[in-house]
Amino acid sequence: MFDEPLRLAVLGSATPYPSADNPCSGYLVSGGGARVWVDAGTGTLGALQRHARLDELDAIWISHLHADHCADLLTAYYGALYADIRLAAPIPLYGPPGTADRLADFLTNTARRSPVESAFAVTELSDGHRVRVGPLALTSRAVDHGMPAFALRVEAGGRSLVYSGDTAPCAALTELAEDCDLLLCEAESAGPESAGPRAEPAPGAGDPVHHTPEQAGATAAAARAARLLVTHVGRAMTPAEAVARAAAHFAGPVAHADPGATFTV
Ligand SMILES: [Zn+2]
Repeated sequence: MFDEPLRLAVLGSATPYPSADNPCSGYLVSGGGARVWVDAGTGTLGALQRHARLDELDAIWISHLHADHCADLLTAYYGALYADIRLAAPIPLYGPPGTADRLADFLTNTARRSPVESAFAVTELSDGHRVRVGPLALTSRAVDHGMPAFALRVEAGGRSLVYSGDTAPCAALTELAEDCDLLLCEAESAGPESAGPRAEPAPGAGDPVHHTPEQAGATAAAARAARLLVTHVGRAMTPAEAVARAAAHFAGPVAHADPGATFTV
């Protein structure tokens, strides 16, 4: 594994609900023998098992608490505590403030709080949070999604991967993505002219909370990313349309985060 410093497997990239053949947002980032489940959108726990069992994960990282990015934490909890998995210790889980209570609020069915902390060792993210997961260095930045939300940079062996999470274009994401080898950037919004449905309610009238494909390309260009993967493409566009629109604003290679695809960074 050490000859492969950084690898991205796309577990799913659909929004805001899974397709028959594409779960919601979720990725497995691995390198040097360490494995991090990045976003746990609906359906990604199933796809994850093509690569790793829950007890083989070194950490979970959650960008924000919209269901299409975290809902499979609920069934992962059942897997971790009430099935065939025997965790040596709770799985380190990095997520927005309030993550543990949000899980417990859903999972608890009696007067006794479900033991979320037995499945997950939760650390709340803050802007600039850094942690090492084995050979992987993780840096989180607060981004602009109308709610607590984070982007992630993973570095190992001199290579770097940046994931936008969900966000409008913002300086924090561009800074985080500076000179990265691969930018995995959402492109949910078809643009203000689109009559298509929104993925999520906007926090206020006209407040942008997502990238358009053009903005994903512009963010990649501004950050001098080597390569762009568009993901979380809204249903008002096809992935091919999103790639073409992004590529008009970024000179480097652009592709879509197809479910099941893997990329060596
Ligand atoms: Zn979101």
